[in-house]
Amino acid sequence: MSLVSAAMKRINPSATIAISNKARELKAAGRDVIALAAGEPDFDTPDNIKEAAIKAINGNQTRYTAVDGIPELKAAIVAKFKRENGLTYKPSQVTVGTGGKQVLFNALLATVDAGDEVIIPAPYWVSYPDIVNFAGGTPVAIETKLEDNFKLKPEALEAAITPKTKWLIFNSPSNPSGAAYNRDEMKALTDVLVKYPHVLILTDDMYEHLVYDDFEFVTPAQIEPALYDRTLTMNGVSKAYCMTGWRIGYAAGPEELIKAIGTLQSQSTSNPNSIAQWAAVEALNGPQDFIAANNKVFKERRDLVVSMLNQANGLTCPKPEGAFYVYPSCAGAIGKTAPSGKLIATDEDFATELLDAEGVAVVHGSAFGLGPAFRISYATSTKDLEEACLRIQRFCGSLR
Ligand code: GLU
Repeated sequence: MSLVSAAMKRINPSATIAISNKARELKAAGRDVIALAAGEPDFDTPDNIKEAAIKAINGNQTRYTAVDGIPELKAAIVAKFKRENGLTYKPSQVTVGTGGKQVLFNALLATVDAGDEVIIPAPYWVSYPDIVNFAGGTPVAIETKLEDNFKLKPEALEAAITPKTKWLIFNSPSNPSGAAYNRDEMKALTDVLVKYPHVLILTDDMYEHLVYDDFEFVTPAQIEPALYDRTLTMNGVSKAYCMTGWRIGYAAGPEELIKAIGTLQSQSTSNPNSIAQWAAVEALNGPQDFIAANNKVFKERRDLVVSMLNQANGLTCPKPEGAFYVYPSCAGAIGKTAPSGKLIATDEDFATELLDAEGVAVVHGSAFGLGPAFRISYATSTKDLEEACLRIQRFCGSLR
């Protein structure tokens, strides 16, 4: 007899977290491992944000807060949406959770009934389909193409919509491909969505600020105001503000949904960490100039990695607009034999053999619903990235 519930059979351990943990363990055991698996900036949280947290501790901001966020943080989020996205929300339309992941979890659990379909363009962030499955819904993946730089085409979106579609989960810049949609590409998708008023839009804008080459970020409700009433615009401080461990995510959308999310959260975690909320107030209201400085470094790393991976035998790597990921195809390595003698039949084999042979940890594409490919996070030192790419080139060159 199984100890765990039937619902647990619908959810897998997060591959991004599992591989990051494995790399950490191998390193602790003394192996020379370069970990390109975790999606988190290698930069420290800026000092002004850390000081706001210290001030919150010393000021005894250490008790329970309002379940879905302190008024000061909600005000900062309202101001952020107005300033950066041209979106007007009331504080009652804003919710704050323990990371973007909790906000997504709450939103899907609060809305999805058995049989509801949730459209997810692939490659997708590993957690989307599992959360949908856990909520009892049916994930409907739409595979994008490398030739389209992994961007969803309006015809493919329209073909996937059925009377049962509840949500489209949209993510630009994308984890894992880094693809970001410009104004025209976004408009082509929102033109489809306006025709289907029963479809809700959950847009995960977590990588909003991480765009390069003067790319202009846009979000669905900004491009198509007719979608405002059925869009949940999700964001957080983890990536742009180098605050992954602080766990603050937030979203704004229809009041009825925000209220339901609050009810769910009141019965699970209650408020997000009080100190981290004060740090997030400073992140959103304080100086923003360090983001451009960090992006300059990220852009250089992206260019380095794309160029070096395209020089590796059997790899093809598009140059994405944003995030800190690249998503090379390893189709040219499939069917070959690794130095260990093992056949590389899948992208998971590729990632496993690469880790064994060269100590480079990457996440296999099948975890993101589209392979054969793998994800590299280039949010690591330029020196390590260069060394890792040399090792990948050597590994690819050793396949027979
Ligand atoms: N979002 C990051 C990643 O994709 C953090 C790990 C996770 O929550 O998946 O690597």
